[in-house]
Amino acid sequence: MNKRLKMSITLPGKVFFVGAGPGDPGLLTVKAAKLLQLADVVVADRLVGEEIIAEYVNAKAQVIAVGKQGGSGASKPQEDINRLLVKMAKRHTNVVRLKGGDVTIFSNILDELDALVAANIPYELVPGITAVSGAAAYAGIPLTARNHSTGVRILTYYQTAAISSDAWQELARFEDTLVFYMSGNTLQNIVSKLLQAGAEPQMPFVVVEQATTPHQHIHSFTLEAFVLRHANAMFTSPSLVIMGRVAGLYPQFAWLPNSEKRAPYFKPLQCQGGEVIASY
Ligand code: SAH
Repeated sequence: MNKRLKMSITLPGKVFFVGAGPGDPGLLTVKAAKLLQLADVVVADRLVGEEIIAEYVNAKAQVIAVGKQGGSGASKPQEDINRLLVKMAKRHTNVVRLKGGDVTIFSNILDELDALVAANIPYELVPGITAVSGAAAYAGIPLTARNHSTGVRILTYYQTAAISSDAWQELARFEDTLVFYMSGNTLQNIVSKLLQAGAEPQMPFVVVEQATTPHQHIHSFTLEAFVLRHANAMFTSPSLVIMGRVAGLYPQFAWLPNSEKRAPYFKPLQCQGGEVIASY
């Protein structure tokens, strides 16, 4: 088949939104691994470990790092990432947009989907293990344990407007397990808001740093002890918070010792044959 004809049949290509899981390369799905073998281009987030790129992406693929560091001025604007996906899909058959954790949770996927739909580019979504699933399992915490929790709320308090003052009253009743993503720096505020809203001072919570990686470290507190003794604690990124009665099960069912490696596990990706279009 003549090359030009082939191009006109296969392009534009497809964009596969793929969840890379929370860190441990063993938590990548089989489908994700297959897609990374077929990819022409991989557009990867900051929270994708270099081991995953090295182990699963085929050597011919172009890897482009578009890492966003929450709150840092170094982020690549979302608009540029959207345009990049469209541009790559017009030039290549298989474009993988590789995101940390799951693709549907705190992932900015909506903007990217909008851009693809507007440009008539086909796409698929491939789920990954989200950070809280990884963190809970590697901490030995059953998130919805009977008699401990009626459900799980996935929240963020990264932007303080994300939770209204009425909502704090409801959250402070703690029938559900509360999970906070992207909230390592606002934890002091979260704990104060909950206590002001009438939360039980002895309510336990854990902060899981670098979950499922060899650097995983878990800190265990109660709301009151945190305010009294740890309010200025700094946590290694990425970290997430699991709060509620189930967090009290951690000491009993922990199966992995805390790592004392406090260095960041997620490092800037070494791009293969590609441009680094964002700095970390
Ligand atoms: N789509 C991702 C979330 C991206 S938002 C997912 O489904 O997991 C980034 C936030 O996710 C971080 O600020 C942190 O709160 C959480 N996170 C991601 N990976 C993590 C890890 N290995 N350990 C702890 N928290 C993690």
